[in-house]
Amino acid sequence: MTPALAVSARERQNRYGHPGLVVWFTGLSGAGKTTLSTRLERRLFDKGRLAYALDGDAVRAGLCRDLGFSARDRRENVRRAGEVAGLLADAGFIVLAAFISPFRSEREAIRSALPPGRFAEVFVNAPLATCEGRDVKGLYQRARAQQLPEFTGISSPYEAPLTPDLELRTDQEGIEACLEKLNALVEDRLKL
Ligand code: ADP
Repeated sequence: MTPALAVSARERQNRYGHPGLVVWFTGLSGAGKTTLSTRLERRLFDKGRLAYALDGDAVRAGLCRDLGFSARDRRENVRRAGEVAGLLADAGFIVLAAFISPFRSEREAIRSALPPGRFAEVFVNAPLATCEGRDVKGLYQRARAQQLPEFTGISSPYEAPLTPDLELRTDQEGIEACLEKLNALVEDRLKL
């Protein structure tokens, strides 16, 4: 296809009313990534935005079902997720990607693959004790019983962001307060 026939980013932006963007939610299991990304998706969608919540569990169940939880497989899982998020952002979506994504370098790799300002890192932060107390999926209990090897926060490291674009302390702030901050972040980025 000749370049003149290809649909440009500007044309997509004109059609959808905003550019594509990746909002990357990172944090321990149970910190609140899925809750906040799906609630934000609803909020943006209801405003007429093209928004899509890309969830780690869904990606693991399909695209990455061949991968386990070794450091190498975790990196590959996040690399693929980053690729998908980038493609969706290229298509014009505001992608709300919720992945534990424990390693700093892999998150930075996703940021550097995207145009400047088109990636925002959100650190969904709650202390391990809080996440474990919530134990939404019963995973911590299984990890403590050594039924889940290499579980982030227990037997596998989590590298917290050093300079996230937004940090949400979900043990101190309620869901609505967090959503307000997220909404403000997205609206700021869409103006860039
Ligand atoms: P993750 O996707 O990070 O594994 P989940 O979103 O599945 O975490 O679970 C987080 C749990 O914490 C949910 O039960 C949610 O209702 C609760 N929660 C309490 N306060 C908050 C908050 N401020 N933000 C997000 N979740 C919260």
